[in-house]
Amino acid sequence: MTVPLSPSQHDSPALDDGCSSVRVAVRARPLVEKEIVEKCTECVSYSQDGKQVVLGKDRRFTFDHVFGPNISQDDVYMDCVKPLVESCCAGYNATVLAYGQTGSGKTFTMGCGNNVSLLEEELGILPRAIRQLYENVEERSNQAEFLIKCAYVEIYNEEIKDLLHPDTPSKSISIREDANGDIVLAGVKEEVVTNFESMIRFLEHGSVFRTTGSTLMNQHSSRSHAIFTIIIEQRSILESAGINDVITAKFHLVDLAGSERAKRTGAVGMRFKESVTINCGLLALGNVISALGDERKRCQHVPYRESKLTRMLQDSLGGNSRTCMIACISTADTNFEETLNTLKYANRARNIRNKPVINRDPQSVMLNQLRQEIRALQVELLNQ
Ligand code: ADP
Ligand code: MG
Repeated sequence: MTVPLSPSQHDSPALDDGCSSVRVAVRARPLVEKEIVEKCTECVSYSQDGKQVVLGKDRRFTFDHVFGPNISQDDVYMDCVKPLVESCCAGYNATVLAYGQTGSGKTFTMGCGNNVSLLEEELGILPRAIRQLYENVEERSNQAEFLIKCAYVEIYNEEIKDLLHPDTPSKSISIREDANGDIVLAGVKEEVVTNFESMIRFLEHGSVFRTTGSTLMNQHSSRSHAIFTIIIEQRSILESAGINDVITAKFHLVDLAGSERAKRTGAVGMRFKESVTINCGLLALGNVISALGDERKRCQHVPYRESKLTRMLQDSLGGNSRTCMIACISTADTNFEETLNTLKYANRARNIRNKPVINRDPQSVMLNQLRQEIRALQVELLNQ
């Protein structure tokens, strides 16, 4: 895929520094051809202010953003993701999660399908975020040296696969906590990427390996969670001040598996087993969301260890990250029940409070302190 490096048309919304709640957006897709042929009707409406969605006659929900079927990819990106890219460049971790039933528009919204469109207006979140990241890096090249890496994994039937290195056995991959308490994926190889085009190639390459299955709902419905991670390390160039700050941020972009219940997909046999396991990952995510969203439970045990997905996203939910969940819904009346489930699930996520901090390398912090002490001593000596 070659994506034009055009400057963005929008102004950047201000960073919401004080607020650390998980932001939740709903995006409704238009009826697809099959639904029009089957004479489905739309059962979702939207308030003028872009904050409320009404399902059927009176199921009303409020979110940080509500995007109707005519809202462009660029608008979704600008409202939900651009501030997160800027935040990552300032050293904060960020996460974007696309949630919803199969066929609701998760992969379209994230832009991580393996036949990504070449048209500018159809580009999803991932290519837009990658493009902006390299623009920001370019702009700041006289202030900091950047090292940018990416990794792409899939969680399928509770096994983690390295999509950029598909020969790596799943058994050699594990989720661990490092000395700083950060979650790391041991055994997954991160690739250093110096430009936009190369990272897009990694994204496309990995997406081809993503496991897909076929169910009654969608020919190529994805049965896995795909997590594309961008790691941004920067060393500030402020020689005059004698400061050498090293900050690192992780940006997870997650295309979750379909949230529908197994029975609706007509899944049988092996595929039924898959559905059950996938629901287990999303069920665990739901349990984590309700534990974190409930004031009374917040100080208690949060069941991150119930699944690989929640373990991997531990920082993103209730931890050190700025997080946005985009709940994708179908507007068709035939999907009423699933849409209701998605809206309820997303509504619970609104209560989560995160604690994002700038990730400074502890060694560089110590080094800077020592440098400052040396300088103070030198000044003292000179004044004697
Ligand atoms: P999911 O990943 O949730 O299974 P997809 O992203 O594959 O769903 O979307 C299903 C179909 O709907 C695709 O053909 C996609 O192009 C189309 N689609 C999804 N969202 C939109 C949208 N906002 N506008 C136009 N078409 C969309
Ligand atoms: Mg998909």
